[in-house]
Amino acid sequence: MNSDVVIIGGGIAGFLSAYELLQRGVKATIVERGECGRESSWAGGGILSPLYPWRYPEPVTRLASWGQARYEAFANTLYKGSGTDPEWLKSGLLFLDTEEKQQAREWAEKFDISLELIDSKRLSVLSPSLKPVDEAIWMPDVAQMRNPRLMQSLKQFLLEAGIKILENTPVTGLKISENRLTGIKTPKGDISANRVVLTGGAWSREILGEELGKDLRVEPVRGQMLIFKASPDLLPTMVLNHGKYLIPRKDGHILIGSTLEYVGFQKDTTPAAFDELKLAACDMLPELAKTPIEKHWSGLRPGSPEGIPYIGPHPEVTGLFVNTGHFRNGVVLGLASASLLADLVTNNPPELDPCLYKLDR
Ligand SMILES: Cc1cc2nc3c(=O)[nH]c(=O)nc-3n(C[C@H](O)[C@H](O)[C@H](O)COP(=O)(O)OP(=O)(O)OC[C@H]3O[C@@H](n4cnc5c(N)ncnc54)[C@H](O)[C@@H]3O)c2cc1C
Repeated sequence: MNSDVVIIGGGIAGFLSAYELLQRGVKATIVERGECGRESSWAGGGILSPLYPWRYPEPVTRLASWGQARYEAFANTLYKGSGTDPEWLKSGLLFLDTEEKQQAREWAEKFDISLELIDSKRLSVLSPSLKPVDEAIWMPDVAQMRNPRLMQSLKQFLLEAGIKILENTPVTGLKISENRLTGIKTPKGDISANRVVLTGGAWSREILGEELGKDLRVEPVRGQMLIFKASPDLLPTMVLNHGKYLIPRKDGHILIGSTLEYVGFQKDTTPAAFDELKLAACDMLPELAKTPIEKHWSGLRPGSPEGIPYIGPHPEVTGLFVNTGHFRNGVVLGLASASLLADLVTNNPPELDPCLYKLDR
């Protein structure tokens, strides 16, 4: 088989890379080990903002801002093209812990982001069922996507646009001749390609192997979540408190996330995390103590130092590119990352500065 551009991994990074390449006239082939969109990209919460965004370095803020300005239009395009609503929803984000309010204000001012400190009265109007606190930070423009719907919608969109998606096809090696990439190996046969984009999430380093993967400091970081079956009017906004967050979906389901665990590739859920998440959820929104929990799951984030993804060409192998390491922010950073990646693959002048995301940075 022959394909000009092959993308390894059918998560959000792979799908968005295919989408952005398509905008530049390139039809890539996606090769996925299992079923697309079932790993971290299924498990995530879909908040379109880093948590405590002022804590992140500027390269993360730049990608986030670029994507935040475009996500609503992108979601509409997907909905129209696929018939599945990815559920973009501007529900805003409340922070019940305000110890960092000064830092938050300075950051918001610097990047021209809407953020305000509100008192308990305003809080009780915005989100009446939350536990009372004296003050809160409010970011009214933060939106969310519903991950499983986003992935389903993207898949349908890509398939209808003629993108080939090969599932149940693990990539077992890269074919390289004289430092130039010539294709990939799979148990179903080799695929020749001039350009390969690695979007293997937490597995990216393993796919590259020890030698080629030495600069890619990506490791799995487990995150567990619960979902409550609540009524649609219980919680109108997203809420963050001491690292745990609630996300209300359009149909009333409420997610609580998440844990941050360095336990290698173990993807099982644990009773301790269940208790920790339930406690945090009921503390923020006491009504949840009476609300049934529908599911408990986990995902492996592609962790990277400071959460800065790796985007661009491999320094030693011509034709090999990476777009991975988005850690806790693969959805909010995904659109900008894929746009930068697609510019680099197609030799277009990039809108975003590629130096910040280089592999050998
Ligand atoms: C609990 C949790 C909450 C989160 N919340 C948010 C949030 O609110 N907002 C946000 O922006 N981000 C969030 N994230 C982070 C975000 O989900 C991830 O950064 C993102 O999904 C990573 O996408 P990915 O495509 O790189 O990885 P993945 O979705 O893991 O995709 C990688 C794909 O590569 C495939 N693969 C692996 N090895 C091979 C191989 N050898 N051959 C072929 N295919 C292979 C895998 O099967 C997988 O499908 C959260 C993550 C978790 C776990």
